[in-house]
Amino acid sequence: MNLILMGLPGAGKGTQAEKINEKYNIPHISTGDMFRLAIKEGTDLGKKAKEYMDQGELVPDEVTIGIVRERLNKDDCKNGFLLDGFPRTINQAEALQDLLQDMNETIDYVLHVDVPEEKLVERLTGRRICPTCGATYHVVYNPPKEDGICDKDGSQLIQRDDDKADTVKKRLSVNIEQTKPLLDFYEDKGYLVTVDGNQDIDQVFRDIQSKIEK
Ligand code: ADP
Ligand code: ADP
Repeated sequence: MNLILMGLPGAGKGTQAEKINEKYNIPHISTGDMFRLAIKEGTDLGKKAKEYMDQGELVPDEVTIGIVRERLNKDDCKNGFLLDGFPRTINQAEALQDLLQDMNETIDYVLHVDVPEEKLVERLTGRRICPTCGATYHVVYNPPKEDGICDKDGSQLIQRDDDKADTVKKRLSVNIEQTKPLLDFYEDKGYLVTVDGNQDIDQVFRDIQSKIEK
């Protein structure tokens, strides 16, 4: 199954991706996670991406499309993949169409996790992540069992630099402008499925399952 998760920052894409990955065993490909890993490892890609990410801006398309192309060609994508955070521009969406055509693949569903804007700042500023395994928590809505510690591997949780209040607003406004044309693009192609993301985490997942298992 080839899936794309769409939704504004904080909508719950990463959270749902973890669940989809566990249940359907398809790799979770997050361009944001790939960039964060590259930054942590200090690679050239990381150095390039960091300039943009620190400002809450998008990394240039040619860089982003390149890493996705490389990733989708890996063996573990043969039985499907789950894209999260990509595509973010029409140019990226068109590049993805070409890439999939070359691979003889198509998209099954584009899942739009829909959450009202006013909920997102709170979700983002309360987000904490595990720097080791990437698991996502929320200080109020999805707290770890022990304060500040990852349930899965015991690492100390951190807050992403771009989740601090000043960058959050910029990121949201950049994304709101860019998301709408993408939703229209996939709606026109008949792939778009909207899920109400303003429910508790397990209910959102049940709704996703019922849509993709139809
Ligand atoms: P969120 O989970 O809050 O939506 P991401 O982790 O997906 O954020 O992305 C963090 C940052 O990484 C973005 O603000 C952007 O700078 C960069 N980024 C991630 N995916 C893309 C993409 N498809 N195109 C351009 N930049 C991207
Ligand atoms: P995205 O990947 O779309 O940016 P995340 O999955 O990282 O979003 O979720 C953003 C924050 O909101 C995290 O702290 C997460 O724990 C929390 N969250 C995710 N889904 C829900 C939900 N349905 N209700 C409340 N909080 C949620």
